[in-house]
Amino acid sequence: MKSARAIKALCGALLLGHATFAAAATVNSIRVWSGPDSTRVVFELTAPVEHRVFTLSDPERLVIDLPATAVAATLTLPEPKGVVAAVRTGDRTTGELRVVLELTRAAKAKTFLLAPNEQYGHRLVVDLLQPEAAPVIHRTAAIPERGRDVVIAVDAGHGGDDPGASGRGGTREKDVVLAIARRVAQEVDAQRGMRAVLVRNGDYFVPLRKRMEIAHNAQADFFISIHADSYRDSSATGATIYVLSEKGANDEASRLAQRENASDLIGGVSLADTDQMLARVLLDLSQNAALSASTAAGQRLIKRMSSVTPMRRVQVQQAPFLVLKSPDIPSVLVETAYISNPREEASLRSPQYQAAFAQAVREGIVDYFTANPPQGTYFAARTPEDPEPTVHHVIRGETLSEIAERYRVTTASLRRTNSLKTDSVRVGQVLTIPQG
Ligand SMILES: [Zn+2]
Repeated sequence: MKSARAIKALCGALLLGHATFAAAATVNSIRVWSGPDSTRVVFELTAPVEHRVFTLSDPERLVIDLPATAVAATLTLPEPKGVVAAVRTGDRTTGELRVVLELTRAAKAKTFLLAPNEQYGHRLVVDLLQPEAAPVIHRTAAIPERGRDVVIAVDAGHGGDDPGASGRGGTREKDVVLAIARRVAQEVDAQRGMRAVLVRNGDYFVPLRKRMEIAHNAQADFFISIHADSYRDSSATGATIYVLSEKGANDEASRLAQRENASDLIGGVSLADTDQMLARVLLDLSQNAALSASTAAGQRLIKRMSSVTPMRRVQVQQAPFLVLKSPDIPSVLVETAYISNPREEASLRSPQYQAAFAQAVREGIVDYFTANPPQGTYFAARTPEDPEPTVHHVIRGETLSEIAERYRVTTASLRRTNSLKTDSVRVGQVLTIPQG
């Protein structure tokens, strides 16, 4: 038991310490993001800091010492996430802040500082790298005798510390594009001869080059990056499809590309240009072939998307988006709608809109691969006498007669093909559309 006098003396010493050594920086917040192969801890600071990092074992800990740094009175410590089991802070010696990350297992740490941007102040980023995890594969059942599945890499833009654009109602791009990407993956997985790989499947950041690498490692046949647009004029409206341009984009496209590419910096030095992907990109002449395939696929997507949403441009646009730089994978970037337009912001949040949009994307991809089947795939193995059944996912508010009208078939044939006893359908139901 400590005496009251001893406690009083200790408090006095601490107060004296704070008074003598004025902190050069204050930690305003500590956030933790968990991804499949790393956990990121971000300190938001009032000024750049020096820092020393070292690990301790038994139990595994990462210690971060920040000289001349204080914590804000309002600081709340983050909940456990990823490999971070707990975060503790304490004054080590006068004026120095010690932060201890208790880890669930050993992880390699990389740290770097980020300068302020419009969303955040100074940041110290600590990446805790875990061994490579396998990409999220939704369905592995291939049909060997009928050819392999076409693999679609579905990339939800931004994530984690990078929220992307924001709507006036508080909608964040990273959230709505993940919701749409997950629906696109579901649609693709429900389609015979196709399967989806989600490049990001949670609220964490993936550097742009890493996104391409995930698609490449999954041997993707197609890469689609999903975003929401933003503009200072809130009346701007409509969806746009982009393919890569090395140069010659118009001003507006360049502005957009600059904003999207800027997010690559969030990867910072931890995943710098050391990967061979970049060298390949610069060398590989097949980029041109991928570009014309990307444009053809983009045009098919526009055709299907225009039935569910206004298009800002009815032609595929070109812009220098880094994420589209895979030399061997046809790649498109979809700006689904303007999050800065309150009406479109509401659409982006709406499950009905998300479902209809995802369905249109799947239809566009199927159209493209039906016309351009990669060798050895289910699409190439198909014969004209063996047409691909078209499937439809019922969305909220749809009736059987509306669906029949849309595909130019009768309700009677729809009922027969799907063994329906009545005309009622439910949300999420998958209907096979009869041919001819
Ligand atoms: Zn974006």
